[in-house]
Amino acid sequence: MACGHTVLMRLVASAYAVAQKAGMIVRRVIAEGDLGIVEKTCATDLQTKADRLVQMSICSSLARKFPRLTIIGEEDLPPEEVDQELIEDGQWEEILKQPCPSQYSAIKEEDLVVWVDPLDGTKEYTEDFFISVIVLINLAYALKCVAATGNQLCHSIQAGPDAVLGRTIWGVLGLGAFGFQLKEVPAGKHIITTTRSHSNQLVMDCVTAMNPDDVLRVGGAGNKIIQLIEGKASAYVFASPGCKKWDTCAPEVILHAVGGKLTDIHGNALQYNKEVKHMNSAGVLATLRNYDYYASRVPQSVKNALVP
Ligand code: AMP
Ligand code: MG
Ligand code: MG
Repeated sequence: MACGHTVLMRLVASAYAVAQKAGMIVRRVIAEGDLGIVEKTCATDLQTKADRLVQMSICSSLARKFPRLTIIGEEDLPPEEVDQELIEDGQWEEILKQPCPSQYSAIKEEDLVVWVDPLDGTKEYTEDFFISVIVLINLAYALKCVAATGNQLCHSIQAGPDAVLGRTIWGVLGLGAFGFQLKEVPAGKHIITTTRSHSNQLVMDCVTAMNPDDVLRVGGAGNKIIQLIEGKASAYVFASPGCKKWDTCAPEVILHAVGGKLTDIHGNALQYNKEVKHMNSAGVLATLRNYDYYASRVPQSVKNALVP
């Protein structure tokens, strides 16, 4: 164990610094004004210069320090020499002061899979909804996601031009989640958060069946989990394929660390080993509280249409 700290806590501390650097990279691209947008599979499935630079930064920074990790990034990029300017080798010392949960103290580098979503909410990013965008670095061990960091790079943007932008939320299962104030939706209110850019009839049928008091349509899986933990929404409902493992892993850690639950639409736990298929084919259902209420309202027709 180098420096007396476990591999997991050293990796989380490094991922925190890397996520902060990623936030700075994206803000710089926004300031320069050329987003460099290309279509991947269709007009709602996009990649931008920020997705490319941030994935290079995260993957290279972590691979240099932890060469035996398995790292899986969302973007399909050609192998290329990474500019030294994109490399971050720092770590967030505050994380190293925290105890590693005992069940993870013997984890070795080669046991960990890092799922990287360089920009979660790219479609919204291309439409200037920068508040939705989060850089997600997700650490999984033995099928489960166990730790995460997420940089919401334009947090506080609504506070005006002098606001200090960005915050990093992080969490480890068994330790907790940090960087935000936990808040709940008032009891008895059913506020659903769902996709803004990737809706269809199944998504709408499922949301309607929840009998919601209100429906919020926002971009990003990470952004929707922040709505759950900050008392803005009671359930994240996405009854469709489209979300991938790099979208759900960090949100799941943060939510589970504060007592919430994220599953597919059937109630199955998601798995995060390196061999697993990337697509979450049976959608996403997540709540901070009252999971059973929302799970019981998923229509059978929706379940029949979504095969895990
Ligand atoms: P959304 O709630 O629409 O922001 O989706 C959450 C995450 O899943 C984002 O990273 C999206 O890019 C991804 N996603 C969901 N549906 C699709 C889709 N139909 N095609 C591509 N990506 C999708
Ligand atoms: Mg994403
Ligand atoms: Mg992405």
